[in-house]
Amino acid sequence: MVDLIKSPGDPIWLQYVPTVQELDVHDGLVDSLDEDANSPVPNITHRYPDRALFLVSPVCAAYCRFCTRRRKVGDPEKIPLAQLESAFRYLEEHHEIRDVIMSGGDPLLLSDRRIDDICRRLRTIPHLEVLRIGSRVPCHLPERVTPELCAILKQYHPLYINTHFNHPDELTPAAVRALGMLADAGIPLGCQTVLLKGVNDDPEVMKLLMQRLLVARVRPYYIYMCDQVAGAEHFRTTVEKGLEIIKALRGWTSGLAVPHFVIDAPGGGGKIPLLPEYVVKLTDKEIILRNYAGKTYRYSQPLEPILVG
Ligand SMILES: *Cc1c(COP(=O)(O)O)cnc(C)c1O
Repeated sequence: MVDLIKSPGDPIWLQYVPTVQELDVHDGLVDSLDEDANSPVPNITHRYPDRALFLVSPVCAAYCRFCTRRRKVGDPEKIPLAQLESAFRYLEEHHEIRDVIMSGGDPLLLSDRRIDDICRRLRTIPHLEVLRIGSRVPCHLPERVTPELCAILKQYHPLYINTHFNHPDELTPAAVRALGMLADAGIPLGCQTVLLKGVNDDPEVMKLLMQRLLVARVRPYYIYMCDQVAGAEHFRTTVEKGLEIIKALRGWTSGLAVPHFVIDAPGGGGKIPLLPEYVVKLTDKEIILRNYAGKTYRYSQPLEPILVG
C-alpha cells in the first residue's frame, strides 16, 4: 500500500497515515460499533433476523484510520478455539440463522489451517445456507491469496467474499490478480466502500472505482457513510454528497456498478438505505417519476376493478 502513495495528503496517504486530527474527540462520537447490545455470546453479533456476524480474527492488516477497530493489535491466532466454541454452539442452536458473516479484523489473515477448521465446522451446521467473509486482504495483502487458500475456500460453497476498496488506485495489478483467483474459485465478490472526505467524495472518482471493480469481477455492494468514530471526524462528509454520488452513477453507468448507499445507524439500528428522490408524486391513480437525466414520466396505477351485478 505504501508504494501507492504519490504525495503526502493524497487519497492513499489519507487513509493510512495517522494525523493529529485523530486526537480530536467530540461528545456523541463512539469508539466502537454498538455491537455489544446484539452480542448474545462472545464473537457473535446477531442483529438481523436471519444472519449473524462472527468475529473470527481480531487483527486486520489495514489499520484504516477511519475504522472503529483501528486500535486493535495482536496475534491473529490468539482467539482460543475454546472461545469460539460458544459462538459455534450459538450458531448451531439458532436455526433461524441462514447466513453467517465471518469478520474481524480480517478472517483471511488467519492461517490456511485455521480458516479451513472454521469453515469446516460451520459446514457441519445444516441451516447455514450461506457463508460470507469480509476481508480487505485482496486490497492490502493480495499475495495472501494463494492457490492453496483458494483451494480451501472453494470446498465451502456457497461462499461469498465482500472486500473493501475505497479508491481506483487501490486496484493494482496484484489486487486485480488476487480478485481473479478468488473469482476463478467460484466465489462471488462484492465490495463495501466507505465515503471519505478527500479520498473518494467525488462522483468521478467513485464512478471510476465502481467501473474498475466490475472489470476486476467485483460487484459493488455498499457505499457507507463513515461511522461516527472518535478521531475520524475529518473523514466525514455530508449525506448529500453520498446522494449526489448515487445520482451520478445510476443511469449514467452500468447498473451493476451502482451499489446501495447506506448509513449504519448508530445505536445498533443497522444499515438503512438512502436513495436520491426519483418519486415526484404518488397517488392512487399514478406515480410521477423523474429519471436519471431529470426528465419527468407518468406511470398509471392499475384501474380499479369494475364491480359487476
Ligand atoms: C452488515 C451487517 C450484516 C450483513 O448485512 P447485509 O445487509 O445482509 O449484508 C449482518 N450483521 C451485522 C451486525 C451487520 O453490521
